[in-house]
Amino acid sequence: MIKVDQLHKSFGIHEILKGIDLTVHQGEIVVIIGPSGSGKSTLLRCLNCLEVPTSGTVKVEGQNFADPSGRYHEKRVAKLRTEIGMVFQSFNLFPMMTAIQNVMAAQIKIRKKSPEEAKVTAEEYLKKVGLAERMHHYPNQLSGGQKQRVAIARALAMEPHIMLFDEATSALDPELVGEVLKVIRKLADEGMTMILVTHEMRFAEEIGDRIIFMDQGVIVEEGKPDDMFNAPKHERTKRFINQVL
Ligand code: ATP
Ligand code: MG
Repeated sequence: MIKVDQLHKSFGIHEILKGIDLTVHQGEIVVIIGPSGSGKSTLLRCLNCLEVPTSGTVKVEGQNFADPSGRYHEKRVAKLRTEIGMVFQSFNLFPMMTAIQNVMAAQIKIRKKSPEEAKVTAEEYLKKVGLAERMHHYPNQLSGGQKQRVAIARALAMEPHIMLFDEATSALDPELVGEVLKVIRKLADEGMTMILVTHEMRFAEEIGDRIIFMDQGVIVEEGKPDDMFNAPKHERTKRFINQVL
């Protein structure tokens, strides 16, 4: 479970997150939507200790990973990295490593697995995302959809309890989006707790237990997909939904 209380984040004089409260329960799938610049990525990055909150708390499985001064320590963050996996728009694979080496790396470095153990796990997760045939390819030998599936396998190989997806399909050619959504759908069916930022509104509606609409650093409205897409309450939500549907 993730619990966020009064999360604020500023960059210089710009306050980007203005008091976010959010609880995500085990097995829940929360989809965050909202205009560009509303703070969606910043929020996900704060959940994963990629950004340090200016104030407020983020607790993962009851644990606050920042010390009281708000700083992060390498050891604690390493622990967090085994709790939460994150997948980005730009796959962030290591270009000099094959698919399987990419999936093995963090398991060895952070999970302290032996190369042999890491290899077994890597093979398992690459198969799961449908890449058994592509394990020994380098990123530049893979399509965008395949690269993104390697990135998902890499995150899953850490055996996290929670997965964050930040526009995982936005950089893909339309015909490759489906293969990545299929993998995410499979995780949903298995009960993975997930927070997704996406512009794929149909997918959001289909997969989300709850939709959150963010604008200008605040949660404007949240609710069940059917209500959010068909009967939004706030003007800002209505305007956004009308634009994107
Ligand atoms: P998009 O839909 O375009 O991805 P977003 O909702 O994810 O947008 P963020 O990436 O969270 O938005 O950015 C919110 C605001 O914070 C933007 O105005 C952005 O310029 C600013 N911002 C984000 N990261 C930084 C940073 N490291 N330093 C300064 N400003 C930042
Ligand atoms: Mg973003």
